[in-house]
Amino acid sequence: MSASLEEKKQRLLDILRSDGIHDENVLAAIGDVEREKFIPDYLRQQAYENAALPIASGQTISQPYIVAYMTQELQVDDRMKVLEVGTGSGYQGAVLSKLCRRLFTIERHLPLMQKADTLFKEMGLRNITTLFGDGMKGWPEQAPFDRIMVTAASDRVPEKLLDQLKEDGGIMVIPIGEQEQTQHIYRITRQGDDFETEILLPVKFVPLLGGIVHDS
Ligand code: SAH
Repeated sequence: MSASLEEKKQRLLDILRSDGIHDENVLAAIGDVEREKFIPDYLRQQAYENAALPIASGQTISQPYIVAYMTQELQVDDRMKVLEVGTGSGYQGAVLSKLCRRLFTIERHLPLMQKADTLFKEMGLRNITTLFGDGMKGWPEQAPFDRIMVTAASDRVPEKLLDQLKEDGGIMVIPIGEQEQTQHIYRITRQGDDFETEILLPVKFVPLLGGIVHDS
């Protein structure tokens, strides 16, 4: 008999631990969120493989290691207001919502946004607020944010997101780099008008694009 999804999830958590995910709160959040709910049905048995998978609108759900790593490096706690740009399947958002006070998440593909929003409601994740829009503009009505996570890659950090980061110790995690070249996860920490940048990990993400798409 093949292993159950629960067994596969436990194995994935062991892999994440051995690959350097040490934040127990992050591991607990990954353990708590059913990834199979966020992927197409035909991929259900692969839900706990440490791999990115296709979702609708030509986008991808990130690899669990990358979700765990970016979440860990964002240093979130339960008093924080967090912005995610690039809701996609909603999986990364669901993980973040377990660790923060309120999560605001923006997606530019309408069907993805609608699907994620429905899932969040079904799963009872009541601290998540969704927006169909261009996340490069951020969410000025809700700013400033203690933390910002961008889950699509850009060649530069959108200025408006920097503006919406909390002045006193706000942190943003974002993949930076051209599409055909190596991208890296950057961590940017704000102190007033000063932005300290750390380059963390080579990655491959779909592009951060402006504007909105009403595809079906
Ligand atoms: N966090 C997602 C990863 C999705 S891939 C998950 O856990 O599944 C990145 C997503 O960013 C895609 O859905 C893409 O449509 C979205 N995206 C790209 N540019 C965007 C923008 N300017 N504003 C909002 N979403 C954007």
